Amino acid sequence: MSELSIVMLGAPGAGKGTQAVRIAEAHGIPHISTGEMLRSAIAAGSELGQKAKEIVESGALVPDELIVEVIRERLSQPDASGGFVLDGFPRTIGQVEALDLLLVELARPLEVVLELELEQETAVERMLGRAAEQGRADDTPEVIKNRFEVYRRQTEPLSNYYRSKGILVVIDSSPSMDEVFAEIERVLDGVA
Ligand code: AMP
Repeated sequence: MSELSIVMLGAPGAGKGTQAVRIAEAHGIPHISTGEMLRSAIAAGSELGQKAKEIVESGALVPDELIVEVIRERLSQPDASGGFVLDGFPRTIGQVEALDLLLVELARPLEVVLELELEQETAVERMLGRAAEQGRADDTPEVIKNRFEVYRRQTEPLSNYYRSKGILVVIDSSPSMDEVFAEIERVLDGVA
């Protein structure tokens, strides 16, 4: 099986998590979600969780140093040596720079960055649906609004960086989950 290192980009509610899980399953690579790692640290009450709780619940970003350490540790695990799909990281230019260095150290360059594109209105509807199902503390209308602002300011610029490196592929996330996944698989066939 060809090795794949993938970054998922996209606004809140664009479907990164859903698609990342399916990519991970289909390609036998770990799905690495910093949001999930933070939520379980918060649930466990660990030191990381205590530092992150209020920030995550407000929709802001935890400090780069904190999350870069989490990712450094996770990417150094043996199951990540044959590739991975990163979901929710990087989210700032500082994190991009840290990831670039880390991937050089690990000799594991990114093959592709998939940016899922979805109108905000549709994304918000999907997120409020998810809130009803999963009870995420940061899926309230107020916090969702803040997460979009944070995304625009801090994360959206990342797509230009990856575009300039020639590895960005933008995917329309408005069709059904299955159709979006089929499109992603077509793209991955092309890079593998
Ligand atoms: P997510 O599940 O990816 O939407 O992440 C949920 C929340 O976790 C975000 O709103 C942030 O508060 C925090 N978080 C997740 N990933 C990062 C990251 N790479 N940098 C900073 N904060 C993050």
